[in-house]
Amino acid sequence: MNLILHQSLILSGKTEMSYHLECLACETRLSMDYPRQLCSKCGGMLEVVYAHAPKVKELRKAFWSYEPFLPDSEYKHYKLGCTTLLPAKEENLFLKLELENPTKSFKDRGSVVEVAKALEYGYDEVVCASTGNMAYSVAYYAKLAGISATIFVSKNANWLKIRDIRETRDANIIRVDGDFTEAQRRAINYTRRRKAFLTGDYGYRKEGQKTLLYEVVAELPSVKNVLVPVGNATLLSATYKAAVELKEVGVLAKLPRLIAVQASLTDPLVVAFNTDRKVRYQKPVTDAGAIGVGYPTYGDQAVGGIRATNGTAVDVTDQEMEVERKAFYREYGLQAEMAGVASMAAFRKIDLEGKSIAVISGGNTLKP
Ligand SMILES: [Zn+2]
Repeated sequence: MNLILHQSLILSGKTEMSYHLECLACETRLSMDYPRQLCSKCGGMLEVVYAHAPKVKELRKAFWSYEPFLPDSEYKHYKLGCTTLLPAKEENLFLKLELENPTKSFKDRGSVVEVAKALEYGYDEVVCASTGNMAYSVAYYAKLAGISATIFVSKNANWLKIRDIRETRDANIIRVDGDFTEAQRRAINYTRRRKAFLTGDYGYRKEGQKTLLYEVVAELPSVKNVLVPVGNATLLSATYKAAVELKEVGVLAKLPRLIAVQASLTDPLVVAFNTDRKVRYQKPVTDAGAIGVGYPTYGDQAVGGIRATNGTAVDVTDQEMEVERKAFYREYGLQAEMAGVASMAAFRKIDLEGKSIAVISGGNTLKP
C-alpha cells in the first residue's frame, strides 16, 4: 500500500480495498476475516465483492500500482507481472508474454495474492491441486514466504515438472490416481484434516489474475479482443471481472470481447457455450496438460462473461498447438508449451476486427 493511499485511508476511516466474500452457490455472505476459500455453509466457491470501486482514474503499467483493485492484505512487493506486450507479425495481434513471470506463467499473479492471504490468516502451510504450472507457482511464493506447500498432483501431470518442483521448491508432492478434478477433491479434504490454506482456482487467485487485463489496457486502451486459454477458466472470469471494474471507474469505455480457447479433445466450456447448457464434465485427454481440465470450476461464470462481451469460444487441436509451439520458437526464439500458444492457434481460426491480445504462457516445459 503506498503512502498517499494509506493517508487517505486514515482520513476516511475505512479501508479502500475492504470487501466481503459471497458464495457463488448459496449466496452466503462472509466477512473478510473468514480465513478460508470455500463457503462455510455449502463448500461452494467464494467471490470477492468490494465495498466500492477503487479511486483509480488512470492506469500505469506497474503491477503493484493495481493494489487498489486487490483484496486488502499486507503484500510484499515481489517483482512479477509487467510482462511484454509484443506486436506479432500478424496484423493487429499482440502477444502478452506471460512466460516472463517468475515461474513462466500467469499463475504467479494469483499465487502472490493467495500466499499473502494465507500469511495474514496465520497459516504455515498452503495446499493445492495441480497439473504442473500451478504447483510451480504456489510452491515458489510459499517458499519466498517461508511456509510449506503440499501439492496434489493428477495422473496426467507432467512428471518431469513435478520432480523439478520437489527438488527445487521443497514442496510435498502427493500423487493422485485420478485426474485434476480428483486431485482437487483430495486437496480440499486435506484442509479439513489439517490447518492448511487451500490455494488454487478460487476467489483470491481470481483477484490477482485480474492484473493481466489492467496491464493490457494500460498499454493498449483500444484493445478489442482478448484470447484466453481455458483450463479452470479462472483467468477468463478474472479478465471479465477486471474489464467490468475498468468500465466502472471510467478507464474503459467498452468491454473487450473475451474469447475462450480450449483443446478440442477436452472442451467442456466450448460445448457449454455452443449448446447453451451448464458446463458438464469431460474426461481430459488432450496432451496440452495445462488446459486439460475436465470440469472448469469457473466455467459457467466464464460463459456468462463471454456472452456479456459478445465473445466466443474456440477449439484448437493438439496438432495445431504443437505446430504453433514450434513456429513460436522459430519466430520469437521463446519456449512455450502447447497450452501456452493455444490462443495464437485460435487467432488463426477466427476472423477478428480490431486489436487482439493472445495470452502466451511459457509453462515449465523442461524441453531443451
Ligand atoms: Zn455456500
